Amino acid sequence: MKIIKSPQQMQSVCLALKKKGRAIGFVPTMGALHQGHLSLIRKARKENDIVAVSIFVNPRQFGPHEDLKKYPRPRVLDLALCKKSGVDLVFNPEVSGLYPQNFKTNVYLEGLSQLLCGASRPEHFRGVTTIVAKLFNIVQPDSAYFGQKDGQQTVIIKRMAEDLNFPVKIKVLPTLREKDGLAMSSRNIYLNKIQRQDALALNKALGLARLLIACGQKDSAKIMAKMRGLIEKKKSAKIDYLAAVDMNNLKPVKRVTRNCLIALAVKIGKARLIDNIII
Ligand code: AMP
Repeated sequence: MKIIKSPQQMQSVCLALKKKGRAIGFVPTMGALHQGHLSLIRKARKENDIVAVSIFVNPRQFGPHEDLKKYPRPRVLDLALCKKSGVDLVFNPEVSGLYPQNFKTNVYLEGLSQLLCGASRPEHFRGVTTIVAKLFNIVQPDSAYFGQKDGQQTVIIKRMAEDLNFPVKIKVLPTLREKDGLAMSSRNIYLNKIQRQDALALNKALGLARLLIACGQKDSAKIMAKMRGLIEKKKSAKIDYLAAVDMNNLKPVKRVTRNCLIALAVKIGKARLIDNIII
């Protein structure tokens, strides 16, 4: 396994591999790897000759009062997990390597970036699309792997790849969960014992939505109200949003039918957690 810090070196290694006809599967991450990340790496391993993983805590997708400084960075463990999972290339750049002082260009999607998480994190998706576009240009992957856990992100990245003609297949894999249903996240370590219990309300609320829909309830306002009631019972929980939206354009739907994404963001203590299901 090669560990590369320089964007230029990473790009030339990837270009050389492509010239030899090797298919590159790419998994972009911010590190603090868990089974969710590893499921993406496993899939990339199965489908490609070369697996590249990036580990980069991207400052530009964090707001001014968010957790950039304390975001976990267990590099030694991450690299060991990558090695064990058969990763060929780890791209682990410095901030100054990707954003030199004269850096000026951003990639921004109108509309989609302002909805859902974008309402309370106005700079977030500009940071995400800019870094993913840069990484696609550096790695030149044939396929790139993303988790459904970040549902809005997958919609935005697919749109960007199509709009900007990136020659990459975007693959979205299911959310991996802890045994008790909590979606795996690098931010779960911020939770204390009580908050960890309270955090189960997210998946329970999504389960309740699924049940209501299965029983014939289609009215999204009624479904959201029931979900809200369940989450608000938890003392440490503060809802950012609950929404039923169209999978393609992220616009709210009145009636929950096919291709609907039910998504939520809830602050539990200091951790802002997101989760979703597709109906
Ligand atoms: P992050 O390191 O949080 O930026 O996530 C890197 C990638 O892993 C993103 O595509 C995430 O959607 C994905 N991911 C994060 N958590 C999970 C999970 N629980 N299950 C599946 N994929 C995940």
